[in-house]
Amino acid sequence: GYGPDGIYHSPRPPIQLPEDPHMDLVSFLFHNIHAAGLANKTAVVDAATGQALTYSELKQNIQSVAAGLASLGVSRGHVVLILSPNSIHFAVLFLAVVSIGAIVTTVNPVYTTREIAKQIKDSGTKFISTVPELLNKVQNARLPVILIGESELRDENVVALYSELLSTDPRNAPQPQIRQTDTAALLYSSGTTGVSKGVIISHRNFMAAALQVAVDVQLLGIKDQIYLCMLPMFHVFALVGIFYTTLQSGETLMIMAKFEFELMLEAIQKYRVTCLPTVPPVCIALAKQKAVEKYDLSSLQEIISGAAPLGKEIMEECSLKLPTSLLSQGYGLTETTGIASLYRRPQHKEHFGTVGLLCSSMEAKIVDIESGKPLSPTKQGELWLRGPNIMQGYLNNKEATESTLDKEGWLHTGDVGYFNDVGLLFIVDRLKELIKYKGLQVAPAELEALLLSNPFILDAAVVPFPDDTAGQVPHAFVVLSPDKQLFESDVVKFVADKVSLLVAPFKRLRKVTFVTSIPKSPSGKILRRQLIQHPVAKL
Ligand code: AMP
Repeated sequence: GYGPDGIYHSPRPPIQLPEDPHMDLVSFLFHNIHAAGLANKTAVVDAATGQALTYSELKQNIQSVAAGLASLGVSRGHVVLILSPNSIHFAVLFLAVVSIGAIVTTVNPVYTTREIAKQIKDSGTKFISTVPELLNKVQNARLPVILIGESELRDENVVALYSELLSTDPRNAPQPQIRQTDTAALLYSSGTTGVSKGVIISHRNFMAAALQVAVDVQLLGIKDQIYLCMLPMFHVFALVGIFYTTLQSGETLMIMAKFEFELMLEAIQKYRVTCLPTVPPVCIALAKQKAVEKYDLSSLQEIISGAAPLGKEIMEECSLKLPTSLLSQGYGLTETTGIASLYRRPQHKEHFGTVGLLCSSMEAKIVDIESGKPLSPTKQGELWLRGPNIMQGYLNNKEATESTLDKEGWLHTGDVGYFNDVGLLFIVDRLKELIKYKGLQVAPAELEALLLSNPFILDAAVVPFPDDTAGQVPHAFVVLSPDKQLFESDVVKFVADKVSLLVAPFKRLRKVTFVTSIPKSPSGKILRRQLIQHPVAKL
């Protein structure tokens, strides 16, 4: 509800975090499993091969890998980079690393060597875990590599195979005293401005997020769900999914290594998937693609979209196509450990367009962008959030931390939204620079720097432009040097091939407009709002 203090409180019951300050994420997740007699339930399945682990096997794998990692010298506070497509091994490694008090950092496998090198340096990575196909992207880092896969392809950096770690005696797993407040992961996000930064997520943040998702499940009596994990595990949404299903320990997680629309439909049919956490482009495909009719998707009870706005019309269209499943939206940021609001099961008929109710134990403010005053229901302003899932800050970046997380613990999201009279949240626009291409982050600052490296370009600004399938695409405004000539296609090509070594392909420029100057504030900040002609969400 909305209070006189201008604060919105979650309508859900609060979560109960463990009281023991030394509880770590992994012990917490596996706490109930044996007690509840669920040790032999299937925990994770590889959708492509059908390979599966029960909960007790999953736990044992984590302990073996943890023991193996320790024998390689991985210890408390060390940063381990995981560069891999989704797999059971990814999940096991993640949990094994954090179980010994070390820290995981994840990266998108399509990133270039340069982008990965930057993150390795920024995060202070000490060990790398990757698959043979991606090994060449980390060769230059000269760091010890743990290779996932049975490949004989070892280069001089490979110190162990994942399979060797798996055969380590699980009883040798170290058990350091980990505090709930210790860092578990550094997940990269550009936040409200600038380039990618390491978002510090603690063990407690992850426990909170897993519990926050679990609240509804207990409330609504949702049981024996089969989740399809097709979202990439380098992103916080999928990670929280792993923790949450482990916490629930009656749920099964089907893991898909590579997203392909028809493979996804096939997996839903084959494994009778009940819940599909996904992103807007997939919902659009579900609404529009003929292939959907070829598969029996009747097992699907829930489709939850997040990571970017999903328009009301598409939600309606998708629901008509799949009348037996509830389509809803969640909203969150890497900085909120993936989750802030969620909508599950129809409490209100008119839920299309909303991102649901505030999650348990969270508070929110809607703040007037000009005056900074808190706003009452139905009024639009910047969304601020507070709660146990809010990040600890940005790594080695006091300035960015202070401008995002204020002294009272409010995270300034950079998103514009409002609550309606029954507490449903709507996100309508974005104040921050961030561009979301198919749910993936594109930081304008990075593309602007690339454009400025072209001697023909005097000045540049990159802003989002709406796109029917991707949500948004990067749109550059370019000022040419006097007497120089470039066409739109030249600029697009410059970013696309000359710099394809520098940034991942999905960050390509898709639109260019030539202008005579870039609007800037007296302090030199690009006035992006003057260049953006369309609000972020068509709701
Ligand atoms: P990330 O840190 O990559 O998860 O990006 C977080 C940002 O994605 C948010 O600040 C929003 O701008 C956007 N976002 C996530 N979910 C939604 C949603 N359901 N509707 C609108 N925007 C969203």
